[in-house]
Amino acid sequence: MKKPYYITTPIYYVNASPHIGHAYTTVLCDTFARFHRFMGEETFYLTGTDEHGAKVEKAAREQGKDPKTYVDGIVPRFKDLWKLLGIEYDYFIRTTDENHQRTVQNILRDLEAKGDIYTSKYKGWYCVPCESFWTKLQLVDGKCPDCHREVQELEEENYFFKMAKYQTWLMDYIENHPGFVRPEIRRNEILGFLKEPLEDLCITRPRTRLGWGIDYPNSKDHVIYVWFDALINYVSAIGYTIDDKKFNRYWPVDAHMIGKDILRQHAVYWPIMLKAMGVEMPKMVLAHGWWTMGGAKVSKSRGNTVDPVELVKKYGIDAFRYFLLREVTLGLDGAFSEDLLAERYTSDLANDLGNLWFRLASMLGKYFEGKIPACAGDALLSSEKPNLVNLYHNVESAMLDYDPRSAVSYIWAAITRLNGAIEYNKPWVLAKDPAKREELARFLVMLGEWLAHTAVLLLPFLPHTAQQILERFKLKTDWTIENEDDFGALFLKAGTPVERGDALFPRLEEMK
Ligand SMILES: [Zn+2]
Repeated sequence: MKKPYYITTPIYYVNASPHIGHAYTTVLCDTFARFHRFMGEETFYLTGTDEHGAKVEKAAREQGKDPKTYVDGIVPRFKDLWKLLGIEYDYFIRTTDENHQRTVQNILRDLEAKGDIYTSKYKGWYCVPCESFWTKLQLVDGKCPDCHREVQELEEENYFFKMAKYQTWLMDYIENHPGFVRPEIRRNEILGFLKEPLEDLCITRPRTRLGWGIDYPNSKDHVIYVWFDALINYVSAIGYTIDDKKFNRYWPVDAHMIGKDILRQHAVYWPIMLKAMGVEMPKMVLAHGWWTMGGAKVSKSRGNTVDPVELVKKYGIDAFRYFLLREVTLGLDGAFSEDLLAERYTSDLANDLGNLWFRLASMLGKYFEGKIPACAGDALLSSEKPNLVNLYHNVESAMLDYDPRSAVSYIWAAITRLNGAIEYNKPWVLAKDPAKREELARFLVMLGEWLAHTAVLLLPFLPHTAQQILERFKLKTDWTIENEDDFGALFLKAGTPVERGDALFPRLEEMK
């Protein structure tokens, strides 16, 4: 039996509310998860929240809350946004979950037993206001690189993970597995980084300095470094060290989707941790780019955040999803502006897809009492099947290659062609000639079949719009297409009443 498809977002750090960057990663993963379910595969889509560490402790204190109460208050903001965006994840992990904490401790005991952990004195510089510990190399003119204030020299004893001893192994692994870190530019970035000697990783913080973290096993004085804790979510969520059967069913993960800013943790720390644990490598670490506004990364610290909730309320879920998937190639940076989103909405959604539906449904209403006319369907099938199957394969191979932009572009090329076919065939002229009734019926059935097939293919990308179209055709909305024969069949039944309904994408000026 085929292993279930397993895809993850990073777990999101809860020191602030979710923004467009979080929404982008989560929509991408949702689209891949939906596509694999659509192909009839069992799928496991994991997301969640990263809840430990100094920044969360500090944010909690500023609000006069204990950290757990604080994170309990933030987590629903993420869950609510995913609900608003129609995200169908299978499991939401929190690093404060008891099972996760148990797994982290099990792993550390195991790594200690294998001799991959040692204690050492660690000298560094501490910025009190930022609560950050810096190495000498990180300081800027001897001051805190974040706030430029004076720092204090500190010496502490901590636990270290022997990362350096796996450096050569990791370089070889990445060299020999070209698809492991994607895209190519990120793979080269990591290979370049690995040319410099890798340092061992300090994986604890003294409790005196950081109270909010998972206890280090066998030491009351240390908590576990937040990144070491967080990365383990990808295996703790599927039962590592607790439920072997479940773990072996889902691992290795098919894709860790991440933003390019957390590449090093995922393409260096995490593979080395897994290697030391004796666990198989992920199939892929896939880094997407950033959304920029006016040339700067959209981020909270720059104060140029885009609120996904506002955009969804204004344009609808599917328009927002469509923009994220269509505007940039996965892996590259994209320029975000509401004008661009509004432009895509009007041209691609309202004019191309919305108008195609409106024209077909109007003509069925006008010429065939709102019903699918009867005509020689078999002839239609033999002439159109190769084109339908071709579209299906193009979309499928783009998605298996993690290129949703191309997949959506193939579907839109079909929509554009259909609008062109209406102009070319002029059904309103055919309708004036009683002798051409059969020809008119054939043309509208051909359009209807194509639109129904397009709607089925759109299910993973624009689920709400696709379902709306299918419902208006009186077709089921939960399709699985496992092969080209499933897709190359006729979907419509003669005599079915088709409901024109409201505009799929109302004009923006009418929405205000
Ligand atoms: Zn500072």
